[in-house]
Amino acid sequence: MRPDGRKNDEMRKIEAKVGVIEKADGSAMFKIGNTIAIAGVYGPKPVRPKHLEDPEKVLLKCYYDMYSFSVPERKRPGPDRRSIELSMVIKNALLPAIFVKEYPKSQIDVFVSIVQADAGTRCAAISAAAMALADAGIAMKDIVAAVAVGRVNNEIVVDLTKEEEDIEGTTDMPIAYMPRMKKFTLLQLDGKMPADDIKKALELAKTSCEKIYEIQKKALKDKYLKMRENENKD
Ligand code: ADP
Repeated sequence: MRPDGRKNDEMRKIEAKVGVIEKADGSAMFKIGNTIAIAGVYGPKPVRPKHLEDPEKVLLKCYYDMYSFSVPERKRPGPDRRSIELSMVIKNALLPAIFVKEYPKSQIDVFVSIVQADAGTRCAAISAAAMALADAGIAMKDIVAAVAVGRVNNEIVVDLTKEEEDIEGTTDMPIAYMPRMKKFTLLQLDGKMPADDIKKALELAKTSCEKIYEIQKKALKDKYLKMRENENKD
């Protein structure tokens, strides 16, 4: 039995919504248990500074930020080594989903704020950012869904909490996956795991990402259904 009573293949409760930041070109909120990510997308727009411009493809910039009050012990505000690394990890997980050649000489900025953290923030950030990119109307091959899998107390489980991450011997594996393309875009491994367990964990990640994907698609559809309802009212 897991500390919060979940089954091994059971994710925490998920909520997803798009269009949460009015001034952004696209935005989304993704909540999984007590982890909440809010993503805002700005662009495509001209590249600044201009010398970073790529004549062939888009320049994707990602900024991951964990709020000071998102964790029990107040975190020092501002960027640190971890947030710089996670910004890169998130960018690399999103890029394969974007038709990058559709936007030459352009820049797309993705800002993700973690307003509450209980493990799995990079995955929540990716799931939120992918929805926000779709909401911004960016041409995409697929939506990226992400979740951590791992080994806790010798069991393969999905969506670890901070409490589970802190158990001695836990292995954590954040995964991002494009369900339609059937391609992984992120695979990290923090700890040790036998090859057979990695295979099992990847299968669990795939089926879990497929479930997240349905929730992401529903959130996107809901926004447009609501917009159409409002248009019909006018
Ligand atoms: P992820 O959030 O993607 O699992 P980490 O493994 O780096 O990434 O972090 C695991 C969890 O540890 C975070 O989700 C958060 O709950 C907690 N955490 C990370 N950094 C800090 C920090 N500076 N202060 C307090 N808690 C933190």
